[in-house]
Amino acid sequence: MIQKKGSKPTVIHRWAANETGHLCGAPKEHWGEKYSTDEYALTLPLCEKCAEFPSIEKVEKKVINIPPIKKKLTPWEMLLERKGQLMKGE
Ligand SMILES: [Zn+2]
Repeated sequence: MIQKKGSKPTVIHRWAANETGHLCGAPKEHWGEKYSTDEYALTLPLCEKCAEFPSIEKVEKKVINIPPIKKKLTPWEMLLERKGQLMKGE
């Protein structure tokens, strides 16, 4: 029986809002518990593929610019907003 252990990370990937969560598209990794600390992460180099992505700044800015708290809408306002989105074809 093989005990499932986390793998040892060798590089840090940049985060991206895609399936893998990695900008370069590398598969998801499950880090071993002893490696999932900030101290260890800081010793790792940035993934070369991630570093090459030209859109890194844009991606990061986009993430930062998302408003943290959305105004609470009344059901009626939500309906109106939804209607507006549908009319825009979203
Ligand atoms: Zn990467």
